[in-house]
Amino acid sequence: MQIKSPRHVVIFSIAISLFAAAASVLYDWTMIPQAAFERNLGWRMLFSASLGFGVAEITGHRMLRENKLKQSLEYALSHDTLTGTYSRRAIFERLQNSRRATGFLVLADIDHFKSINDRFGHAAGDLMLQHFGATARHYLQMTLGEERAAIGRIGGEEFLIHIDMPAKADLNIWIDGLRAVLRRAPALQGDAPYPLTASYGVTKLDGCGVDQAMLDADEALYAAKAAGRDCAVMTAEIAAFEGRAKDVAHAWQA
Ligand code: GH3
Ligand code: MG
Ligand code: MG
Repeated sequence: MQIKSPRHVVIFSIAISLFAAAASVLYDWTMIPQAAFERNLGWRMLFSASLGFGVAEITGHRMLRENKLKQSLEYALSHDTLTGTYSRRAIFERLQNSRRATGFLVLADIDHFKSINDRFGHAAGDLMLQHFGATARHYLQMTLGEERAAIGRIGGEEFLIHIDMPAKADLNIWIDGLRAVLRRAPALQGDAPYPLTASYGVTKLDGCGVDQAMLDADEALYAAKAAGRDCAVMTAEIAAFEGRAKDVAHAWQA
């Protein structure tokens, strides 16, 4: 039995106390003479049930604590503590699961993040990371759900998004939607909205393996940065993006 809540402990304790009472009656019935068996039968049952309940309560609470500890350890191993997205290990594990390694890989990298740290401090940078992680995760859950999409922080201000979606056109719409959500709900710096943007390198997972797909997505991300940031570039379209306007600086940098 999985003990996951205090209610489960009570159910477990009642079950054990009933079992203890029944076991003691059965034992006495087979082991002692009829006259002695009937004497104080109720009290003996009550004693066995209470003893069983007490022991089960202690054991049940210990099992509950261990279960909670196991759950929080599993969560800590599979999630990034700062952003609540998957950890690097967990997102790659998900991708290495061949059944799910279809669709697209999106490498998202926050634009000019070093400048955010330099200008507002590391703590403000952390808040921006949290904002990006929470916004992208929420958008992903609302639009596609856990089964078809996942996001993990794979380092600094870089996130890996896996989207199990067949058509590239739908993916473009999805990324434009994420960019729009980030614009509509900007990160805050003090009370002022801060225009947090990211660039996206996209590649199709078409059986070439996760390692190769990561290299391709990275190359596409590089092209997205070179093309002015705050945009998405697909591996197959890298050539078309080369030569576009270089780095559009944030307004506050002008
Ligand atoms: P680009 O638009 O080209 O991506 O430029 P960038 O400034 O975002 O990229 P760069 O690689 O130059 O800087 C990334 C910075 O992210 C440098 C590092 O100090 C910072 N960083 C890495 N991890 C964390 C973190 O957990 N918290 C904070 N606040 N900063 C971090
Ligand atoms: Mg980076
Ligand atoms: Mg960056």
